[in-house]
Amino acid sequence: MMKLCALPRVRLANLPTPLQEAPNLSKALGGPRILVKRDDLTGLAFGGNKTRKLEFLMANALREGADVIVTGAGFQSNWCTQAAAAARRLGMRCVLIKRGPVDGYDPEEYDGNHLLHFLMGAEIRVATRGSIRRVYEETMEELRERGYHPYLLSAAGSTPPGVMGYVNALLELLSQAVEMGVKIDYLIHASGSGGTMAGLVLGAKALNTGIKVIGAAVSPGRERMTKSVVELVNESAEYLGLDLKVGEDEITIYDEYAGPGYGVITDEKAEAVKLAAETEGLFLDPVYTGTSMAALIGLIREGFFKKDDTVVFLHTGGSAALFPYKAPLKAYGLGRPMPWRKPPWSG
Ligand SMILES: *Cc1c(COP(=O)(O)O)cnc(C)c1O
Repeated sequence: MMKLCALPRVRLANLPTPLQEAPNLSKALGGPRILVKRDDLTGLAFGGNKTRKLEFLMANALREGADVIVTGAGFQSNWCTQAAAAARRLGMRCVLIKRGPVDGYDPEEYDGNHLLHFLMGAEIRVATRGSIRRVYEETMEELRERGYHPYLLSAAGSTPPGVMGYVNALLELLSQAVEMGVKIDYLIHASGSGGTMAGLVLGAKALNTGIKVIGAAVSPGRERMTKSVVELVNESAEYLGLDLKVGEDEITIYDEYAGPGYGVITDEKAEAVKLAAETEGLFLDPVYTGTSMAALIGLIREGFFKKDDTVVFLHTGGSAALFPYKAPLKAYGLGRPMPWRKPPWSG
């Protein structure tokens, strides 16, 4: 772990993030002790898990003399928000390549993260699935021709330097638990590209903590995700100079709570968002943390945990993505059918 401290890193997050008890939520569910690790409070552009990854990624960009960050994802991407905010804080420009265009969705309609991208003056380009590679290449080339030093960040920042952010988060969590005198049995979080999970699994294993890391996949495809987390853990261990390897049997991912697809709001996700807000004044979103909370609720209801277990729910952020879901969430809260479940900007 000595190597971790020696890696280039730029400070972007307010750390440590709080580790809070959630007694009302635990009581409402008749569940184990629940603690919430508030990575929604990292402080960069409404917070979230990407801040920790960007501390390591942006340090590498700075070392290479970058002045423009090029990255992308979907229209309502939290990653794009965090990456653009990090770029701005470090005095860089940012080009975001978004997947689209989507029939029936007006990209000029600014809401949620898309509004934040616009406000930060990120240059937004739209590419279809088929053209995305070419648009990236052309963008990089065009920026170089214009005299810039563009730096490409892969979507979600799930490369070994980004993973270091969550190895570090695991160390931070452990020292908080020791200070509070609690022993953590489980750590549950939302998993998309798997970089967050890879860091947590690597940290937990390297320190022999006994903490069982549970990933709630935000889209179906447990087997594919398991493979990519294993790969990322092992690559990241090598990056850190650790003689450590994990196998697929050490990765626990549930994809039952994702529903039919990424970003699709289900009754379970809506219930999770509502319950966290009502019991703890804690705001989740229907894409990521609503899915991981639905998983926590589901696992408690099926008797997965023992009464005296301690479970940490990692709040990975995403609060700006809550508001574009106002129509289905309002309907759910009023007991009416949701007007749509698949978001109009997702295609
Ligand atoms: C990106 C994101 C995740 C998933 O992180 P990965 O490292 O991609 O698995 C979870 N929660 C929120 C809010 C996110 O924005």
